[in-house]
Amino acid sequence: MTQVVPGTRDGVLVHFADGRQEAFDLVVGADGAWSRIRPAVSSATPQYTGVTHVETSLDDVDTRHPDLARLIGDGSMAVYGVNRGLVAQRNSGGHVKVYAKFRAPLDWHTNLDLADVEAVRSSLLALFDGWAAPVLDLLRHGTAFVHRPLYVLPVSHTWTHVPGVTLLGDAAHLMPLLGAGANLAMLEGAELAESIATGPEDLDETVRAFEEQMWARAGKWAKITTAGLERLVSPDPAEALALFDQVQPS
Ligand SMILES: Cc1cc2nc3c(=O)[nH]c(=O)nc-3n(C[C@H](O)[C@H](O)[C@H](O)COP(=O)(O)OP(=O)(O)OC[C@H]3O[C@@H](n4cnc5c(N)ncnc54)[C@H](O)[C@@H]3O)c2cc1C
Repeated sequence: MTQVVPGTRDGVLVHFADGRQEAFDLVVGADGAWSRIRPAVSSATPQYTGVTHVETSLDDVDTRHPDLARLIGDGSMAVYGVNRGLVAQRNSGGHVKVYAKFRAPLDWHTNLDLADVEAVRSSLLALFDGWAAPVLDLLRHGTAFVHRPLYVLPVSHTWTHVPGVTLLGDAAHLMPLLGAGANLAMLEGAELAESIATGPEDLDETVRAFEEQMWARAGKWAKITTAGLERLVSPDPAEALALFDQVQPS
C-alpha cells in the first residue's frame, strides 16, 4: 500500500504497491509507527525522544543461565543508573528479552558496525562499565543486538476527522514503551470492530465516536509514558524507582 486518498466519488481510494487501486468505505490505519495511512488524516511524524534501546535476548535461561533466571524471576527486573538502564523481561519458553536503554544522539553508533555482535557488546559493556557483574552478564550472554531508537508522536495527537479513514494503535498515538502501547492497540481494534458490528447504522458517526474515546484515553497514557520516560532514563536514578508506584491513569 503506497497511498490513501479519501473523498473520491467511490469512497477512500487505496493505491497498492503493485499498481492496483481499490475503493473502500473505511480504511483503518493499524500499520504502526511509520504508518502509510496516517498522512491521509494528519501531518504529524514521529520524533526521536533522545533515548535509544539496544535489545538482546537469552534462550533457555533456566538451563543455560540459572543465576540470571533467578535474578529475573517470573516477571521482569530493571536496574537504573545515570541516564541509562538495563531491563530484562521473561517471555515464554525460557526466553528473556534484555533492553539496554540510554540517552544518546541518533547517530551515537556512527563509528560502530551495528551488524558486528561483538563490537556492539563491547560498546554496551563500556557504556555500563562499573555495574554489578550479574547485571552485565545479561549483555555478555546476549545472542544478537537490535538497535531501537525510541520515537514518539506528539502527546495527545488528534486530527480533524476525515470520513472513511481512521487510525489506531501506534499509527495514532506512538508513545514511549511503558507497557501501554500493545494493550491500547488491541483494545482499540476490538472496540472499533465491536462498535461497527453493533453500533448505529451511520458508519461515520461510529468512527467519530471511536476516535473521541481513543484520543481521550491514549492522551492520558501518552502523558504518563512521556513523563515516565523522562524519569526512567534520567540523571537521577531514584526517579525511576519512585515512578513504579505512580503509573496509573487518572
Ligand atoms: C522494544 C519494545 C518493547 C515494547 N514493550 C511493550 C510492552 O511490554 N507492552 C506494551 O503494551 N507495549 C510494548 N511496546 C509497544 C508495542 O510494541 C506497540 O505499542 C504495539 O506493537 C503497537 O501495535 P500496533 O498494532 O499499533 O503496531 P505494530 O505492532 O507496529 O503493527 C503494525 C503492523 O502493520 C504492518 N504494516 C506496516 N506498514 C504496512 C503496510 N504498508 N502494509 C501492510 N502492513 C503494514 C507491520 O508489518 C506490522 O505488522 C514495546 C515496543 C518496543 C519497540
